[in-house]
Amino acid sequence: MNHRQILDLDKEDPLAEKRQEFYLPENTIYLDGNSLGPLPVRAGTRAQQLIGQEWGRDLITSWNVHNWIDMPVEVGEKIAKLIGAGNGQVVCCDSISINLFKLLACALQLQADRRLVLSQTDNFPTDLYVVDGLNQLLGDEACKLQLVAEDAIEDALQNDVAVLLLTQVNFRSGKKHDMQRLTDLAHQHGILVIWDLAHSAGVLPIQLDNWNVDFAVGCGYKYLNGGPGAPAFLYVAERHLEYVTQPLKGWMGHESPFNFTSSYIATKGISQFLSGTPPIISMGVLDAALDIFAGTEIEKISAKSIALSELFLTLMEQNKELTDLKLLSPRDANRRGSQLAFTHASAFAICQALIEQNIIADFRSPDILRIGISPLILRFEDIWLSVQALTEIMQKRLYEKASYQQKKQVT
Ligand SMILES: *Cc1c(COP(=O)(O)O)cnc(C)c1O
Repeated sequence: MNHRQILDLDKEDPLAEKRQEFYLPENTIYLDGNSLGPLPVRAGTRAQQLIGQEWGRDLITSWNVHNWIDMPVEVGEKIAKLIGAGNGQVVCCDSISINLFKLLACALQLQADRRLVLSQTDNFPTDLYVVDGLNQLLGDEACKLQLVAEDAIEDALQNDVAVLLLTQVNFRSGKKHDMQRLTDLAHQHGILVIWDLAHSAGVLPIQLDNWNVDFAVGCGYKYLNGGPGAPAFLYVAERHLEYVTQPLKGWMGHESPFNFTSSYIATKGISQFLSGTPPIISMGVLDAALDIFAGTEIEKISAKSIALSELFLTLMEQNKELTDLKLLSPRDANRRGSQLAFTHASAFAICQALIEQNIIADFRSPDILRIGISPLILRFEDIWLSVQALTEIMQKRLYEKASYQQKKQVT
């Protein structure tokens, strides 16, 4: 592939215009949208409106006048469309960690005669910590974590497991589980499933309803571009809604919060999963960011993600300088999320050398260089330029520079 052919790919790209809808610093290639999505222009506009007019001018009346009070459900419905969920099953609130706590408690309630929570050893740590916390509260008799390696999950799906808790796309390797198949297998053994969609929502086609998923959580600040610390979301299949009560009871989940009664009565439906007051400013920003997806199918976004990733890998494979960077992600695009992970003993320093050239990738301990593929902002030319920069860094061993070895608090 030569440069001209790459530029043609950009000309033919049906999503090429989407890039204009984001603020992107000049001469910067952002390969980290899987960690913190870039700023949509409309999100910036909405933030100013939220602060200047809604909070600044209309003050407390905004709860009614600007309908702040319904924001968690309305934002939830926008997210629902991106993950194949029908109405009334998704709400936007809190963080993944907190939402997982609520859902795990509910799933265990439904499985009173089982206690095992099966997960994968290299799952995202917060997911495992949440099980640990619930175990501390409920005791081993009610909640016990069982960790297995990724290739042992299917064998571990036995009739004593209460809940299968997995992340669809592994945050390090980018490996993608077959969500539909594992959900089916789990159900055959009477196991309920909770899927973490942190690296899936907004970039991979997902059919929560059609795949019979029981519960799911996901992130607002990765591919949904909701900004740092954007609220997360949770999904509860309609068939479970009336049989569960979540433990983080708070007034926003009460059937009539403004009656201020001393006893808790959960509201019907997905709103019972709210606890405290929603963070209106950040949720409003996420709300605006989600409008980027209106009129665009996730299938198209996913197809471009695959095309960009395949280009990256093809260019790398053609290049002898890059053979030391070992692909950790599956080579088969159908088994990957929207990222590429490479291992190298100097991965941290290589990442720093890329950042110095305004190519922002990220590093995951101990030796992983992660390339996030955000189809809404990346051009095929960006991939070409990134592989060129990587080639120079490897060829000239630019990563050996002393200043690239220094790790900061957030990597
Ligand atoms: C990013 C991420 C999270 C983040 O959890 P928060 O509690 O929202 O900070 C959780 N799980 C996975 C798999 C992630 O990648």
